[in-house]
Amino acid sequence: MSVFSGEPLKPGSQASLRNANQRRVLDTVRRHGRLTQAQISRRTALAPSTVSNIVHELIGAGLLVMESDHAGRRGQLISFNGSAGHVVGIDVGHRHVTVAVADLNQRILAQRRHDLPAGHRFPEDLALVDHALDGLLGQIGTARSGLLAAGLTLPAPVDLEGRVISASAILPGWGGIDVREEAGRRLELPVVVENDANAGALGELTWGAGRGVRNLAYIKVGHGVGSGLILNGALFRGATGSAGEIGHSTVDERGKLCRCGNRGCLETFVSSGEVSRLLADTHGPDLTIPDLVDAAAAGDVGCARIIGDTGRTLGITVANLCNIINPELVVIGGEIARAGDLLLDPVREIVSRYGVRGSVRDLRIEAAQLGIQAHVAGAVIVALQHAELPV
Ligand SMILES: [Zn+2]
Repeated sequence: MSVFSGEPLKPGSQASLRNANQRRVLDTVRRHGRLTQAQISRRTALAPSTVSNIVHELIGAGLLVMESDHAGRRGQLISFNGSAGHVVGIDVGHRHVTVAVADLNQRILAQRRHDLPAGHRFPEDLALVDHALDGLLGQIGTARSGLLAAGLTLPAPVDLEGRVISASAILPGWGGIDVREEAGRRLELPVVVENDANAGALGELTWGAGRGVRNLAYIKVGHGVGSGLILNGALFRGATGSAGEIGHSTVDERGKLCRCGNRGCLETFVSSGEVSRLLADTHGPDLTIPDLVDAAAAGDVGCARIIGDTGRTLGITVANLCNIINPELVVIGGEIARAGDLLLDPVREIVSRYGVRGSVRDLRIEAAQLGIQAHVAGAVIVALQHAELPV
């Protein structure tokens, strides 16, 4: 759909300027959510009369709506029409996939999580996502044709072009696949691929513990261990896209061999598999992280001890990270973060011991507010950031 139809616009023509201004207004509403016309004018540096004209055109085109907040006409808020388009968030993990559908006003309308068998494979996973998507769209009463983009997050490094660098370690059934291309073809949608820790950082920044924070580190502790870094309000990717791979920082150079080829990486101490293995002799080989957290909360001393030790080991790397990037907030995510202070207090203690005093004095260390939903929330955010708006 286009507000302007017919001939392509000549650069510099009045129509092309108008179209560029429309995009500025739409991008501003997309980034900031509901805004008054005065706020849009300030944020776009467009004259109030220009903003007013554009807003009325876009309302006429069915893209925007105006709602009153009872503060009179000046306080009327502009937001996206709920039927202007939807995006999809998909989070694929070692043993699960979550699919969510959101509108352009950053509201997640429906989501589903499915457990997956070990060694699950890309073709079956995408068929499941496709099927789940049909169910979610039926639930909210919208058609496939209204979908604009999908964000797909997974536990693997992703380069600056959105290509998976290597999926083979944690998702062996996804190895050697051009995920963006193949998933795009299967879902018939533009697909943006993102590392799950980066997505967790974006999810917590937008909806969770990181709201209003400019510098934060999101630490994902799962089958893989990694971090997503928000510096000066934006995701920091580094030169090749692998910034924040703290799972492979060295804790003990004579330690266990890691899947990356080095020895004694953080991941060889605190990943879900390693933590479960520590309890295999006493608690059986099938103890999951949620089981471990529940047992510790119910007073199991051995489980509480393992969670505390995990926090202390994690704390050393978190202290080093804080000394380098000096965040205001560290958010710990992944299933083990549900242990709360049992995990976080040891992290805090070690960080206050090894962190540079000025750097960690006002630092907050908290569990992810969105819990294990942080990654799919981030998948929705990347889809919203990349969705081509229908003007
Ligand atoms: Zn490693």
